[in-house]
Amino acid sequence: MGIITPPLKDHVFWMQHALTLAKRADQEGEVPVGAVIVEGDKLIAEGWNKTIQLNDPSAHAEIVALRQAGQIKQNYRLNNLTMLVTLEPCAMCAGALVHSRLKRIIIATKDPRTGCAGSLMNLLQNENLNHQLEIEFGVLQQESSQLISQFFKQKRMSIKKPQNYCSNEA
Ligand SMILES: [Zn+2]
Repeated sequence: MGIITPPLKDHVFWMQHALTLAKRADQEGEVPVGAVIVEGDKLIAEGWNKTIQLNDPSAHAEIVALRQAGQIKQNYRLNNLTMLVTLEPCAMCAGALVHSRLKRIIIATKDPRTGCAGSLMNLLQNENLNHQLEIEFGVLQQESSQLISQFFKQKRMSIKKPQNYCSNEA
């Protein structure tokens, strides 16, 4: 705490909203990720992970929010908008974000396994692509990383339970 520059108040406000959406995904049995898209201080779109319930591998929070923003703005380019998302985007979402021409992304916590905003690779700022996003990390980092790790901890516990059927296993 206190190592990085304190984020602007409105960033915290919108990230809190993204976290509320992530919790909603959690309640629906989905990986808890939430995303909002804002223009200045105005909410344009929001999304949370819906892959399981929609049988749609592309229904990540970021994609859901991007699709909604495109409809609201009646434009496939989202130049001046900012996304706040609770987890570092994967390759699919990072690709879609570059296509959208979104200006800036604010990310709560890193995803060392699949994050494409610098962890696994930095697709959002690849100089060979025709658009780069501004990236900011760390707004409500602890809250978001706690939510994700709790989810996977519970998931691992619930996977272990059925193994009791084969009771002789070590
Ligand atoms: Zn994704």
